[in-house]
Amino acid sequence: MNTSRRQRVCVLGSTGSIGTNTLDVLARHPEQFEVFALSAMSRVDALLAQCLQWQPRFAVMPEAAAARELRRLLAEQGSRTEVLDGAQALSDVAAHPDVDAVMAAIVGAAGLAPCLAAARAGKRLMLANKEAIVVGGALFMQAVEEGGATLLPVDSEHSAIFQCLPEDRTTWAQRIDHIVLTASGGPFRQRDPATLADVTPEQACAHPNWVMGRKISVDSATMMNKALEVIEARWLFNLKPEQIRVLIHPQSIIHSMVVCRDNSVLAQLGTPDMRVPIAYALSFPQRIESGASRLDLLAGRDLSFEEADERRFPGLHLSWQALRAEEGATAVLNAANEEAVAAFLDRQLRFDHIHAVNAGVLASVHPEAGQCDSLDGLLALDARARLAARERIAQLRA
Ligand code: NAD
Ligand code: MG
Repeated sequence: MNTSRRQRVCVLGSTGSIGTNTLDVLARHPEQFEVFALSAMSRVDALLAQCLQWQPRFAVMPEAAAARELRRLLAEQGSRTEVLDGAQALSDVAAHPDVDAVMAAIVGAAGLAPCLAAARAGKRLMLANKEAIVVGGALFMQAVEEGGATLLPVDSEHSAIFQCLPEDRTTWAQRIDHIVLTASGGPFRQRDPATLADVTPEQACAHPNWVMGRKISVDSATMMNKALEVIEARWLFNLKPEQIRVLIHPQSIIHSMVVCRDNSVLAQLGTPDMRVPIAYALSFPQRIESGASRLDLLAGRDLSFEEADERRFPGLHLSWQALRAEEGATAVLNAANEEAVAAFLDRQLRFDHIHAVNAGVLASVHPEAGQCDSLDGLLALDARARLAARERIAQLRA
């Protein structure tokens, strides 16, 4: 990158799957990037090791007890990293005047506030945390616009679409007929749908092509991940719901496609490795080495495509339903799904009941007037939907 000094990067959720992949890419380019801040929810040991390696100015742990423990361990090692606690600290480091780029790799709606803070502060905002844009919607995009931030997708499908489009986004609407988000189909693409009631968290988290955090792994198994991605694409590329289609492509080689007005189809291909979209978000509009292996088209893997089976993946359609419903419906759907997935991982909810919770909460919880115009309003809506979801989960258990 042609800059006079190193770019200072804040990695939110640095101990997770995207967070560690981000640090892997950063480690390949010490002359271009330095780490300004790291954050994690719970794994003190993992964050400690990262802090000792990267010596960031700040480390953030939202919970005070974990932060205290990290502070003690860092002091023992003579580290100069300052440990901050409280959820507000995530927004503070994301919007810090000395930060150039923020990797949003927290999982769930908990990442919305720091994303908004980074957007309003005009940062390069690298978005892995799809739940944040699904909940934030128009408010999120307005913060990006008003803050003059550069929003770059990290989700592989959205990075693929972004890579197929010209830099000048004012031409996008004129070019795009529709987009096709590819989906691997997850671990249950070929399993008899009648047996989905017995799925265990271990089975749901065993993804055929990607190693990811537990929440997104379950979302991939239900295809709620693709549902969230449909909503994410609506905002990132300013599309109508009917301009977004989904196709199962089990090999995860084509990461998504743009179908242009003239029926030219643009696709982005590569081995399934998140370091490619991460590297592109870090270096855009340039390209840097990512560490991913190169795609070998002669390696014998055929590329195949299938329609998503509605019986097996009923959740997928909730995305278009929520996009066509009142503003805020996507935040309700996301909250229900976060609660349902957590209950499933905790063995408190059957796998096939995740959809029952999501569909039920989407139909019964409605935003109040003006609730989507502020972060506080959205968080209140999110809390109300979570409460409704927990009631449904309790009923389904009884
Ligand atoms: P993960 O569970 O591996 O990591 C999540 C990180 O966020 C951890 O560092 C964790 O400590 C932190 N965290 C969790 N809850 C938090 C909270 N309430 N407050 C602050 N920090 C919290 O998850 P992941 O797989 O890395 O996914 C992160 C995000 O990226 C998700 O939104 C996911 O959908 C998205 N994403 C992931 C992948 C992937 O390949 N893993 C691909 C595309 C998109
Ligand atoms: Mg994805």
